[in-house]
Parts: sequence; C-alpha cells; structure tokens
Amino acid sequence: MSGLVVIGASYAGIQAALTAREAGYAEPVTVIADEHALPYQRPPLSKDFLRGEIDAQGFLMHDEAVFAGAKIELRLGHRVVEIDRQAGRIALADGTMLDFDKLVIATGSRARKIAVRGADLDGVCYLRSIADAADLKARLGEAGEIVIIGGGFIGLEVASSAAKLGKRVTVIEAASRLLERAVSPAVSRFLLDTHTRAGVEVKFGTAVSAMIGDGGRVTAVELDGSIRLGADLVVVGIGGIANDALAVAAGLECANGIVVDEHGRTGCSGIYAAGDCASHYSRFAEGWIKLESVQHAQDQGRAVGLAIADSHEAYDSVPRFWSDQHDLKLQIVGHAARSDRMVIRGAIEAGRFSVFNYRQGKLVAVDSINNPADQMVVRRLIAAGISPTPGQAADSSCDLRSLLKPGRKAVA
Ligand SMILES: Cc1cc2nc3c(=O)[nH]c(=O)nc-3n(C[C@H](O)[C@H](O)[C@H](O)COP(=O)(O)OP(=O)(O)OC[C@H]3O[C@@H](n4cnc5c(N)ncnc54)[C@H](O)[C@@H]3O)c2cc1C
Repeated sequence: MSGLVVIGASYAGIQAALTAREAGYAEPVTVIADEHALPYQRPPLSKDFLRGEIDAQGFLMHDEAVFAGAKIELRLGHRVVEIDRQAGRIALADGTMLDFDKLVIATGSRARKIAVRGADLDGVCYLRSIADAADLKARLGEAGEIVIIGGGFIGLEVASSAAKLGKRVTVIEAASRLLERAVSPAVSRFLLDTHTRAGVEVKFGTAVSAMIGDGGRVTAVELDGSIRLGADLVVVGIGGIANDALAVAAGLECANGIVVDEHGRTGCSGIYAAGDCASHYSRFAEGWIKLESVQHAQDQGRAVGLAIADSHEAYDSVPRFWSDQHDLKLQIVGHAARSDRMVIRGAIEAGRFSVFNYRQGKLVAVDSINNPADQMVVRRLIAAGISPTPGQAADSSCDLRSLLKPGRKAVA
C-alpha cells in the first residue's frame, strides 16, 4: 500500500495528515506511532494531569471517530526503524515494510539524559510521554522531597505542580537565572519570586555531580562534588533533542533537526518533516531554528499537509509559546535571540506586565505575565513587521492596536 505515511502521531504528524485530507489528498493515509495511546495533548502532562485534576481521556487530541471519518489509519505501538528513500519504503521494528509515495517525519524530540554517576538509579525520572507522566504521578504521591534538575519550562512546571501537591521542592539550575535562554531577566525574576513564595527553593550556578542511591533507589543528589541534597524523587528537565536519527541514517540533511524549507520539504522529493524534529529558516529569528512548541508543530504540520495536497502555503507563523506555573500564565511571542533593548509595559508589582524585546530598533519578541491582551496585539504587530517605539511600548495608555490600522506609523 502506498500513499502518505506519517511517522509520529502527535501535533505535527496529525495536523499534516488531517490537513492533507481536508485539502483533497485522496490516496491512503497511514500514521505510525511508537506510543500506544491515542494521540493526546502534551502540555497537561506537567500540569493538570500530574496534579490529578484530569484523567487521560480528558486531553485526547481528537475522538477516534475523527480519524476513521478522515480515512486515516492509525498504527499505534509500532516503531519505525528505517527509511529507505530510494525504494520509497519504511521498516517497522516487527519487520513489516510499508511503501510510501509521500512521507512525513514528525518524530518530535526526546528528553536529554543527564550524564552523571548514579543517573540510572530508580527514582531518577524524565517527562516526555503520557507513560512517563503516569509513572511520575504515582511516584509523586509517595515522595516527600523532590529535586528538579533544570530551571526550564518542564522543570518549573513540575516544580509548580509538586509544590501544589504539598511536596518540598528544590530546583537546581546551572545558570544564574530561570529560563535564561527563553525570557527576559525581569520575567526570570518574577518567576523566581513566584516560585519562592510557593515554597520552591531554587539553587543557581550549581552543577549536579552525582546521584546517590541506596538499594538501587535514589536518596540524594550530589552538588558540585560535595553538597548532598536529600531526594525521594529526582526529575530531570534539561532540554530536548530532536529525534532525527531515522533521517540522518537515510542521508537527509540534518543540523540540529531535519532541515526543511517553508513547506516542510526536505532535500529529498516526497519526504517532509515538521514539528520538534525539524529545523527551518525563520525570518522572525533571522536564522535557522528548531522550535519546541504546540503552535509551531501544528502550523508547520499544516503547511506540510497543504504541500502534500498540492495546495502550497508557506509556513510563516510568528513563534508562540505558553507555560502555566502556580497561578500565572507566561506567554512568549516572537524570537528574542540577540535582542539588545528591553522595555517593560505594565506593572510588575501588579503581576501583569510584558517585556518588549528589540533587535536594532525592531520589535522581535514579547514575554508577558498574565497579559494575553498584549500577546494578541503584538503577535499581529510582529507578523506585519510593525514596531512600536520603545516609548509607545512603555506607555500603557498607548493603544498598540492603533498601529495596525492602515496609514498609522509608530512615532519616536
Ligand atoms: C511535559 C510537556 C509539557 C509541555 N508543555 C507545553 C506548553 O505548555 N506549551 C507549548 O507550546 N508546548 C509545550 N510542550 C512542547 C510540545 O508538547 C511539543 O513542542 C510538541 O508536542 C511537539 O509536537 P511534535 O508533533 O513535533 O512531536 P511530539 O509531540 O514529540 O511527538 C512525536 C511522536 O513521534 C513518536 N516517534 C518518535 N520516533 C518514532 C519512530 N521511530 N517510530 C514511531 N514513532 C516515533 C514519539 O514517540 C511521539 O509520540 C510540552 C512538552 C512536554 C513534554
């Protein structure tokens, strides 16, 4: 059976398959996933699901009937082990071969493993899949002291959930502030205050040198070769790595992800990639980037689906990301790399503000705390290449929406 084969049944893969169908692709469509669960949302894994506020049925991506209705065959619990691009064929771990006319690689990313002594002790956990989350949830129920390695999004969300469950939580961060590569210093400080108020302790500039165990179970984390911190449970959140091994082995170009163009096309005709596993040129970053966000995976998956149905529409969405920690919502729009000026809009003390990041006078990104209204308007401004002046950005009484009106210009 030929047609479209998609590897990975998450945001990018499912969006590509559904979009191709909606846009008129009439050949067979098969989506293969190594996970056994029906396609589900990942963000709740570190949030409501971990806290026991929703169950697994509560965040499925679509009802099973949607796939049947779109004539999309889901093959769950099957791992793809090889792509033979010359033959137009993939091999599954059980030896099954599947032919394809078009192939989408949407294999996502995996958690980066920590390489220290004792890293394989029981109780040292990662969070990527629903199976990981179910395991972590059960362990959290029994643990008192939790050590989280990494003050990134996943680490901080797990810290927030664990603190809400009444656990003693310590976050170990090698850098000097939280989310250093993703948000401005003002937002990092605000997050730190919020976590501290909720009882989470954060240790900065600290490296984990070993995990200490007793009877095969982790009991402590060793810091900087000497200090020991007691731990019933360790959660490691030190970043993701693109699952591009299949593409590398098939000879596709990969550089921190599978290299694709604005339609998600790789250099090999008929083979596409999208989502966490792909690397693309972004005008918003002014460079090649690999994004890990729901919005990116869905929008790039959509561009791939359209290209497969010969209805091309370039992927050109402004990058967006959100994170829920304690009672706050952090949202980021744009790409702040190499920004050289930051302007605060709103009141930090009131817990509702945004930080406008500029690169050579151009607005490139905005991080907001509890301020979805700012996010809505700056998304449109950044997409249109319109930059409010720093003065306008800092002035909360200046209606930034007016800059979107034809003929209106930002003034100094
Ligand atoms: C705990 C957690 C919380 C998150 N919270 C947020 C959030 O709040 N906001 C946000 O924007 N983003 C969040 N993200 C990130 C977001 O979930 C990812 O960016 C998104 O899931 C990427 O989608 P994807 O389709 O590219 O890949 P993935 O969701 O990673 O899915 C890839 C799928 O392919 C499968 N696969 C891999 N290799 C093979 C193979 N060889 N054969 C078969 N199947 C294979 C994988 O097992 C997986 O099921 C979170 C991620 C996690 C883990």
